[in-house]
Amino acid sequence: MSAQLLPVFPVSTSAAVPVIELAQTDRLRALHTQMRDLRACQSTFTFYADQVIRLLLEQAYGLLPFQDHLVTTPVGATYQGKKLATPLFAVSVMRAGESMEFELQRINRDIPIGKILIQRHQQTKQPHLYYSKLPANIAQGYVMLFEPMLATGGSALCALDVLLAEGVPAEQIVLLNLLSSPAGIARVNLQQPKVQIITSSIEQGLTGQAYMVPGIGDFGDRYFGTWQAGVV
Ligand code: URA
Repeated sequence: MSAQLLPVFPVSTSAAVPVIELAQTDRLRALHTQMRDLRACQSTFTFYADQVIRLLLEQAYGLLPFQDHLVTTPVGATYQGKKLATPLFAVSVMRAGESMEFELQRINRDIPIGKILIQRHQQTKQPHLYYSKLPANIAQGYVMLFEPMLATGGSALCALDVLLAEGVPAEQIVLLNLLSSPAGIARVNLQQPKVQIITSSIEQGLTGQAYMVPGIGDFGDRYFGTWQAGVV
């Protein structure tokens, strides 16, 4: 599937990496339609969300470096193959990001997965880092950062700070989202112009409670079944 490359708003003077929005094919819009429907139950929501996650992961794999890898086939022929050229890691922003691990593990069975817990601080209302556990040697590879909803960009930036402090080069981080707001993209791109963002939809904007519009509501609640059906 070819993806649309969208130049991000002129908010940064440094050369910003373009955001990749998956091509808005009818097939993808049909998956979005199922997820966006207020009436979708948990199993319907996860069934379609997992398919979108798979498309995001495949797009992200397309950005990774591969090297030649020869194998001998059962008929004795040599196949001029490929394999990843660098270690690959994933890091989930808990809890919603953990939803993206299931499809990843269907692609790559042995991938080390880190966790970052960020919540809004009760007093300051700012994203606050509560916990992180990252794979050893994470700075030596590429990192897929799982944050399914890029709304204000606050927790994504907090998670990026954790990775950068660990020594991961910004250009080796791919931030994967199902939905992104224009403001969230602009904010991340302004502060971390070398981080590649891949999203399945750039939404119209945010509500007063920072939900995306048209959106899907609270992703974590809908994916993990903790949602009381209704309009947020
Ligand atoms: N988080 C969500 O789960 N949904 C949104 O729309 C925004 C942030």
